Amino acid sequence: MSTNNRSLSGSVAPIWHRLRKHFPVEIPGAAAVTLAGAVLATTVAPFRALDWSLWVIYGLLALSFTFVWGRAGIFSFGQTAFFGIGAYAYGVLGIDLFPQTGETTTALAAAVVIAAVVAATLGYFIFYGNVGDVYVSIITLAFTLVLLTFMSSTADPSYHIGQALLGGYNGIVGVPPLMLPGGGQMVSPNGLLFTCIAVAALVGFGIHLLLRRPFGRILAGLRENELRTELLGYDVRRYKLVAFTVGGAIAGLAGGLFAAWGTSINPSVFSLPQAALVPIWVLVGGRRSLFGAFVGVAIVQGVSDALGGGGGSATPIVLGTLLIAVVLLLPEGVLPTLSELARRFLPALGRTSVDAGPAGRTGSPAGDSVIGGESRKAASITAVDVHKRFGGVAALAGASLEVAPNGVHCLIGPNGAGKSTFFNMLSGRYRPTSGTVLLGDEQITLRRPDERARRGIGIKLQVPSLYGELTAFENVWLAAYGAKRDIAEADVRAQGALAWLHLSEKAHRPAGELSHGERQWLEIGMVMASDPKVVLLDEPTAGMTREETMRVVELIHDLARTATVIVVEHDMEFVRQLGAPVTMFHEGRIFTSGSIEQLRADERVLDIYLGRGTSHVGS
Ligand code: ADP
Ligand code: MG
Repeated sequence: MSTNNRSLSGSVAPIWHRLRKHFPVEIPGAAAVTLAGAVLATTVAPFRALDWSLWVIYGLLALSFTFVWGRAGIFSFGQTAFFGIGAYAYGVLGIDLFPQTGETTTALAAAVVIAAVVAATLGYFIFYGNVGDVYVSIITLAFTLVLLTFMSSTADPSYHIGQALLGGYNGIVGVPPLMLPGGGQMVSPNGLLFTCIAVAALVGFGIHLLLRRPFGRILAGLRENELRTELLGYDVRRYKLVAFTVGGAIAGLAGGLFAAWGTSINPSVFSLPQAALVPIWVLVGGRRSLFGAFVGVAIVQGVSDALGGGGGSATPIVLGTLLIAVVLLLPEGVLPTLSELARRFLPALGRTSVDAGPAGRTGSPAGDSVIGGESRKAASITAVDVHKRFGGVAALAGASLEVAPNGVHCLIGPNGAGKSTFFNMLSGRYRPTSGTVLLGDEQITLRRPDERARRGIGIKLQVPSLYGELTAFENVWLAAYGAKRDIAEADVRAQGALAWLHLSEKAHRPAGELSHGERQWLEIGMVMASDPKVVLLDEPTAGMTREETMRVVELIHDLARTATVIVVEHDMEFVRQLGAPVTMFHEGRIFTSGSIEQLRADERVLDIYLGRGTSHVGS
C-alpha cells in the first residue's frame, strides 16, 4: 500500500479528508438535527414532547426496516411483530420487576433481547429453510397476524405472567413509564423525548458504523445480487439471519420505549394497518437512508395528525395518495432527494470518495498472480457420470469430464447441449440428480455454492451477473474479500484486478454504467480477484467486438497461469486463438474431444451444429 498517506497523517488535510470519508454529508446533518432536537427536547411544551417522543420511537422502528429491507434487501413485512414483542416484554417485565428494582431499564434491555431471540428463531427457519423472497414477506406478515389473534384472545385473567395481566383486546395497562436506575424518578415528557433522541442517535450511529464495515458492503451485495454473492463465497443465509436479528432487536427496543411512552400496550400493534405503515414511512423518507427513516415518520405522522390522527376517516386516502406521489415523483424518497439537491447546489458539501479507492497502481509486484498477492495452486476438476433432470428434461445425461490442473480447456456444443447446466453443477448452483463432482481429490458434490467458492471455484455466468449499483471497485472488492477475509488484502487485490482489466479509471463508476464489454471483463476480474483454483467462464465474449474478444484471450491466458480455466464458447475463431483442447457437448453428455482442427474436420460435429441451424462452426 502507498506510504504517503502515513507520512502526511500529522497535517490537517488528511484528517479532514478522513472525517469526510467516514462522515459524508448526511452525518453532520443528522448530528446537527440530533443536537438541535436534544436542546429542543428540554424546552418544548410537555404535550409536544410526548408527541415527538412517539415520532422518534416510530423512527426507530422505521430504522429497523430501513436496515433490513433498504440495506439488506429482506422485505420483512412483520417488523411490527418484533416491535410488539418488545412492547409486551417491557410491559410484563416492567410490571413484575419495577416494584423490586425501582427502574425499568432492565425491562427495556430484556425487550431488546427477547425480540432479537424471536427474530433469530424465526429468521433461522426462514433463511436456513431457503424460503423464497416473496414468502419472506408473507411469513413475517402471517407471524404478525398470528400474534394479533393470540394476544387478542388473552382476556381471561388466567393469562398472566407474574403480576402482569395480558388483558386480551385491551392489552396490558399500568405499565410503568421509563425509570432510569438511581433515584427511581419518573422520566418527564421532556426527559423521555431527550432519552428517545439520545437512544435513536446512538442506534443510528451504531448502524452507520456497522454498515461501514465489510458487513455493510456484503449486505449491499446480498441486496443487489444474491446469487453472485453466494458464488463469491459468502454464506448468504448467515448474513441475512444476522441482519434480520439486528433489525428485530432495534424494533424490540422501539417497542419497549413505546410501551413506556404509553404506559400500556394492546394487540393493535400487531394489526395490518400498523404493519403497512412501516414500509410507507420508509418509502417516504428514503428506503436506504438511515436518517430518512425519521424524516419519513415525521412527514407521515405530521400529515396524519394534521388530518385528525388515526381516527380521521380521510387519513388512509391522504396517506395512500402521499405514498403514490412519493413513489412516482421522488422514487428515492424525500431525504435522499433533498441531499442530492443540496449537493448539486452547494458543491462544497459534495461527498468525497467513500471507498478506499484504487491508487492507480499498475504492474504486478512480487508474487505469482498478475493482480498482486499470493495465489493458491490450480486444482483439477472432475465430473463423473453427472445427471441433471429438470422435470422431464434431461439437461445432463451422464456427463463425465476430467480437467487437469492449469491451462485452458474449451467446451463447445449447440444451444441446449447442457454446457451451462454442467457449469452450474460444478459451481454448486444446482445439485446433480446423480453423479459425483471432485475438486482436486475432494468430493464436493453436496457442497453449497459458497463453500465451493471458498474452496476455489470461480464462475462467470452466461448471463452477466454483477452488482449494477455498486462501483466497479466494490464489485471486485467483494470478490477479493470473499476469498481472503482481510480488508487490506482485499483492497490490494481489488486495485490489482482493476489495473489488470485497465478499468482503474472507472473504479468509482457504478458497474451498471459500464459498457457491455467492460461489464464482462469486470466479471472476469471478479473471478480473478477471488483467487480461484478453477475458473469457469460461460460464453465470456458474447456481444463483444473483435478487439474486446482478443483482449479476453489475453486475460484468459493470464488466468491460466495460476488456475485451471474452462471456457464455454460458440465463437470458433476465439476457440482457435485460445489454442486449447476442446470437448464437445451434445444432448447432455460428452460427444467428442480433441483439438479444434480435429473437431472441425469431423463430419458428425458439423452435422450437429448445422443440423441445429447454427453456423458458428463454419466461420
Ligand atoms: P447450453 O448452455 O449448452 O446452451 P443449458 O445447460 O443451458 O444448455 O440447457 C440444457 C437443457 O436444460 C436445455 O434443454 C434447457 O432448456 C434445460 N434447462 C437448463 N436450465 C434449466 C432450468 N433451470 N429449468 C428447466 N430446464 C432447464
Ligand atoms: Mg449456455
